[in-house]
Amino acid sequence: MKKIIIAIDGNSGCGKSTTAKALAKKLHYIYIDTGAMYRAVTLFFIEHDIDLNNEEDVKNALAQIDISFKYNEETGHNDTYLNGKNVEREIRQMEVSNLVSPVSEIPAVRRKLQEQQRRLGEDKGVVMDGRDIGTVVFPDADLKIFMTADLEVRAERRRKEMHEKGMNVELNEVIANLKERDRIDSSRADSPLKKADDAIVVDTSHLTFDEQVNKILELAEEKMKA
Ligand code: C5P
Repeated sequence: MKKIIIAIDGNSGCGKSTTAKALAKKLHYIYIDTGAMYRAVTLFFIEHDIDLNNEEDVKNALAQIDISFKYNEETGHNDTYLNGKNVEREIRQMEVSNLVSPVSEIPAVRRKLQEQQRRLGEDKGVVMDGRDIGTVVFPDADLKIFMTADLEVRAERRRKEMHEKGMNVELNEVIANLKERDRIDSSRADSPLKKADDAIVVDTSHLTFDEQVNKILELAEEKMKA
């Protein structure tokens, strides 16, 4: 079977990462969480007090940022590293979630990360999830999925996931964050969140996790045979 590129885009909190991760595992593909890369840049900007409106500061900061992924034996997943430090937990905090969309609007940030994402996927055999993978990063991806789900369903899933990791947040706070990120992500000028013309929409509001993974797996297997 031929190796393909699977691009999964969609709204915040609709289960893209968990689905993409499970899919990659089943296919023995590499999984790249591009949201984690934008989150790592945001964490660096917070830690170094970077003024998002100061182009020079942003440019200098970007030159100091190195993002990588390393396999975690315990969890069986890749952890995100910022300049050699494991930041997997820190990048999921609300403080980062609340600033990540404004940071992701900055064209220089997008150029740097999109270039790295293209390099990571050049050998194919990759599942990449984000907002602009099927539209900008890999417009020729073999399979493009656009995932979505009702806001309340997404918020409750995200709250539960954070709770399981020991991060307690109010449902209202999660709803407000998802809504605001979708608004900024869809309306920005540079590579906004939108469905690629040839993407297949998967609404997960009423699907179980296994159902959503299997649905995309079937679509992937068809493409791999073609
Ligand atoms: O996927 P996740 O929700 O972790 O992404 C966090 C944020 O990173 C998104 O809300 C969006 O602002 C940004 N992002 C992006 N382009 C991508 C992936 C994520 O702008 N390809």
